[in-house]
Amino acid sequence: MFRDGFERVLVAHEPASGLHAVIAIHDTTLGPTIGGIGIAPYPDQGAAVDDCCRLARAMTLKAAIVGLDLGGGWSVIVGDPAVDRTEDRLRAHGRFIARLGGNFIPVNDVGTRQEDIAVIGRETSPVCDRGDPSPFTALGVVAAIRACLLATDGHSDLSGIRVAIQGTGNVGSSLARLLAAEGADLIVADADAGRAERVARELGARFVDPDAILSVSCDVLAPCALGGVINDRTLPGLACRFIAGGANEVLARSDLADLLAARGILYVPDFCANAGGLIFLRETLRDRDPVAVRERVMAVGELVADVIDRSSIAGITTTAAALGLAADRLARVR
Ligand code: NAD
Repeated sequence: MFRDGFERVLVAHEPASGLHAVIAIHDTTLGPTIGGIGIAPYPDQGAAVDDCCRLARAMTLKAAIVGLDLGGGWSVIVGDPAVDRTEDRLRAHGRFIARLGGNFIPVNDVGTRQEDIAVIGRETSPVCDRGDPSPFTALGVVAAIRACLLATDGHSDLSGIRVAIQGTGNVGSSLARLLAAEGADLIVADADAGRAERVARELGARFVDPDAILSVSCDVLAPCALGGVINDRTLPGLACRFIAGGANEVLARSDLADLLAARGILYVPDFCANAGGLIFLRETLRDRDPVAVRERVMAVGELVADVIDRSSIAGITTTAAALGLAADRLARVR
C-alpha cells in the first residue's frame, strides 16, 4: 500500500452470506472511482489482494491519461462465478461498498454480469448498470491501431492489415466486427473454441488454437482475454509489429516494455488502448448523448499518437511516456 500509494484496501468478510471480497481504492485525487467487480476462485487472500490492487492502480492511470475526473479502484470477490453470484453475497458486497460513501462506483467485469451490479445497486448508489462498455472499448482499440499505422506507415487505412485477436468475448468480438467492416484480415482464437469458430465464420476470419495466437505473423496483436500474456515465455515467439488490445495489465512485468521496444514492437500501453470503456461509463453516468461519447472515445487515437511522439522524441518506451503523462496530470491536480 505504501510503496504504490494506495489510499485504502478493504478486506470484506460477511459470515452470514459467506462473502469474501477485497476492495482497493488506489487514488481519488481526480474523483471517485469507477471500479470493476470480478469474481474468481483465488487460491488465497494474498492473490486476491494482489490482483485487486494491480487493477485498481491501472484504473488510476487510465482515468488520468484520458482526462477523466475519476480515481482508481477495483474489487474482487473470492469465489466461483458459476455458483457464488448469489443475491445475499452481492447485497452484502453492496453494503461494504456503500460504507465508502460514494467513492466506489461498481461495474461488472470478468465473472460478473450487469444484472449482478443491479443487485449490488439495491444497497449502494450510484452503480454503472446502464449499458455494455465493450463496444466502446473496442472502438478505442481501433483508434489506437490507426494511430500506430499513421505513426509508422503514414496512413491509417485498415484494409488488408492483419490483426490477431486473442479472446473473442465481449471486447474481442466487437473489435473483430469493427475491423472486419474496414477490410482487415483477421485471425482469432479463444479458450472456448466454439466462440472463436462462431466469430470466424461470421466474419470470414481464420481461427487458430489459443496456444498459437500469440506467435502468428501479423501486423497487430490484440490481446483481449487475460492479463500477463506478454511474458518471458511468449516474448520470443511474437511475430507482430504492434500490440494494442482490450485486456488489462498485458505485460507480466514492467521491464517487458523495454524488451518489446528492443525487438522493434510498438506497444500501446493497455491503460491507453482500452480506455474507451471507462470513457463510456463516465459519460453515461452523466447522461451525455451517444455521439459525444463516441467522439470522446475516438480521441484515444490522438492520445496514442501523442504517446508515440513523446516516446520517440525522448527515446523512452511508450509505457514510460504514458506513465509520465498520467503522473503529470495527477501532480497538477494534486
Ligand atoms: P470476456 O470474458 O467477455 O472475454 C474474454 C474471452 O477470453 C473469453 O471468451 C474467454 O474464453 C477468452 N479466453 C480466456 N483465456 C484465454 C486464452 N488463454 N486464450 C484465448 N482466449 C482466452 O471479457 P471481456 O469483457 O471481453 O474483457 C476482455 C479483457 O479486457 C479482460 O481482461 C477485461 O478486464 C479487459 N477489459 C474489458 C473492458 C470491457 O469494456 N469489457 C474494458 C477494459 C478492459
